[in-house]
Amino acid sequence: MKREKKVLAALLRVEKSHAPKDRIANDPVSLVHAFTDPLDREIVAVLASSLAFGNVTTIRAKIKDALARIGPRPARAVRDEAKLHEAMVGFIHRLFRGEDVARLLYGAGVVQREFGSIGAMVEKDFEATNDLRETLGLFHDRVRAAGKFPKNTNAKGARRGPSHLLPDPRAGSGVKRLLLLFRWMVRKDPGVDFAQWKLPTSALQIPVDVHVHRLGYNLGLTDRKTADWRTSEEITAALRTFDPFDPVRFDFPLCHLGISRRCPSKKDPVRCDGCGIQSACRHWA
Ligand code: SF4
Repeated sequence: MKREKKVLAALLRVEKSHAPKDRIANDPVSLVHAFTDPLDREIVAVLASSLAFGNVTTIRAKIKDALARIGPRPARAVRDEAKLHEAMVGFIHRLFRGEDVARLLYGAGVVQREFGSIGAMVEKDFEATNDLRETLGLFHDRVRAAGKFPKNTNAKGARRGPSHLLPDPRAGSGVKRLLLLFRWMVRKDPGVDFAQWKLPTSALQIPVDVHVHRLGYNLGLTDRKTADWRTSEEITAALRTFDPFDPVRFDFPLCHLGISRRCPSKKDPVRCDGCGIQSACRHWA
């Protein structure tokens, strides 16, 4: 069998075996599904994707903590800057402090009111630029400015939380959490992704976390060793050959395969036993 066919067969197998309904409870996006109002939902999606850093159990606990602090109507809560900052006092997740999250949410609320919705803003920016990276960059610029993030957060000695919470995609990092936000809000996948923002799914790029990077490497979708923007571009380009209209369709199953298998990234008869992509894995070639 040709290599591409083997890889596609492996991806389809993983997609079939990692049904969203069995996996969603372990995914931060399920907390976004609790909100039906589109304005609340996009604010919660910004929050949940931005905190999706580290262990999934901790991520979900931190998102719940932040949601409990801001209350049941997030789009309303983010209008009151002082109250929002007060609510987030004492919140910590990895590098992020409550004040960073308050700035992010307040900034998201300002652009939401200015454009009618965050979705309307990104749709307008994508239409003007026809470029996903620049659209993400404008999202970064507008939310940072509106949220009054400190300047020079990349300067020597500066705390890294503010720049890391909302990174600039033009700087070369993988911006996994921003790409995750866009996957959630643009793709249509009932029970997982919302299809709320009207961008073409063909323009999306895969969020490369440690699992997707490892499995993408093992499948030969990239040879790159760092999970940066170019790696995300490279894996997406390879996936586009399998589905040009929806190149990130395999992100959710690959990520959950990685979480469940704890891939050793080497030939390990015990840990690799039953792995859905073994037949296409470079360690078993
Ligand atoms: S076969 Fe083993 S090394 Fe290859 S992707 Fe699966 S778990 Fe990882």
